[in-house]
Amino acid sequence: MASSSGNGSQVRPVVTRFAPSPTGFLHIGNARTGLFSWLYARHFGGKALLRIEDTDKKRSTQEAIDVILDGLDWLGLEFDGDTVYQSQRAERHAEVALKLLEAGQAYKCYATPEELAEMREQQKAAKQPMRYDGRWRDRDPSEAPEGAPFTVRIKTPEGGETVIEDAVQGRVKVDNREIDDFILLRADGTPTYMLAVVVDDMDMGCTHIIRGDDHLNNAFRQIQVIRAMQGIEDGWNEPTYAHVPLIHGNDGAKLSKRHGALGVRDYREMGILPEALFNYLLRLGWGHGDQEEFSREEAIELFDIAGVNKGPSRFDMKKLLSMNGNYIRKADDARLAKLVAPLIGSQADEGLLTRAMPELKARARDLNELADGASFLFKRRPLELTEKAAGLLDDEARERLAAISARLAKETDWTIEALEANLKAYAEELELGLGKLAQPLRAALTGQTTSPGIFDVLVLLGREESLARIDDQAGSQG
Ligand code: GLU
Repeated sequence: MASSSGNGSQVRPVVTRFAPSPTGFLHIGNARTGLFSWLYARHFGGKALLRIEDTDKKRSTQEAIDVILDGLDWLGLEFDGDTVYQSQRAERHAEVALKLLEAGQAYKCYATPEELAEMREQQKAAKQPMRYDGRWRDRDPSEAPEGAPFTVRIKTPEGGETVIEDAVQGRVKVDNREIDDFILLRADGTPTYMLAVVVDDMDMGCTHIIRGDDHLNNAFRQIQVIRAMQGIEDGWNEPTYAHVPLIHGNDGAKLSKRHGALGVRDYREMGILPEALFNYLLRLGWGHGDQEEFSREEAIELFDIAGVNKGPSRFDMKKLLSMNGNYIRKADDARLAKLVAPLIGSQADEGLLTRAMPELKARARDLNELADGASFLFKRRPLELTEKAAGLLDDEARERLAAISARLAKETDWTIEALEANLKAYAEELELGLGKLAQPLRAALTGQTTSPGIFDVLVLLGREESLARIDDQAGSQG
């Protein structure tokens, strides 16, 4: 098994984790860090683990969790081992806090909410940074009011600095005076998020924490817990951190609702193929030379953190759509037919769709467009024409349609080549370009002004249906 070393000197097999919070949707920014974590583990033949951070009981409904699991499944990111549910591990989180307390690395803080509010007010008035002032750090617990509730706070270093060699951000450091003695256990005995994340990361054996750079500040705190636990339990090795810049909208601002769709499911509904979103998210913030498209295998082979950009990336819907179009053209026809049929409705026939697909997919940028483009195949006669299509059918055009119908009715070889030769001969007779004939013919056959090539349309619809549709629009032959 290939390995990569963490910050420690030991070489350990790579273990990454993706740790989404169920918020009701799988944010594409999160999906991207999930993708990076997954790819990194796969690249090194390590493990990619999944943890659902479901401690916010109100938001963490089964439905919200399923949205995440479905999104990951759709993107093809299968994780290793059992999914870890953070809420089920509260006892273990508390155990770690109590061990730190026992070892003197944490302490009980009896400050009341009112006292803390007052402290913050004073700091605010003095224009000082608002952070816990350590008032119970060195006080004798015997001074505590009998039976009063307490929180457990970690003792963070008072001097020096904490340095992280971040695999994306480079060397980042913070003055330890900026890290206050944060709470590990609340007065009701429940663990804080800051504690839960780091205990889970360590218990899951994570060697690499790849996540959004909005968590960089948390890393400085989480490291304090790791260091404090090192003398208490085995296995508390500092992981390698990789804080990936967030995705911004086209206007350069952090991606938010006003930029439009945010969830993986939204893109699925827009008719984006999973492999296209996979590739787009990969390319958004990671590059390998100027290659634009990667198969899953190539992505696994080539992905590395060194290729992750330091600056934020911009989401570009146009680019995603054009990439999606490329993936549609590469996709298997029968698979596309299966995806598109339900978008057309019960009248859609997968066999016919599959046969039509090589022509249909040449133009579409998403599955909805593909469905629109295919719908003519299943329309009921007489067709309802679009305004533009109807506009093409003047008296002259209708007469020509009648003539075409008469010619084609005699055609014994219903193939692209024979039909093309037949209509070309007619166009020559009329001294017209073939396009002049094809346009009204298309209107009659499809009810639209755009479609696959006209001879493909004739072949796909078949002789009987084609002639019937033409006759529906043809004028009486004079
Ligand atoms: N649950 C956090 C989120 O969804 C991620 C925590 C982490 O990766 O450390 O933003």
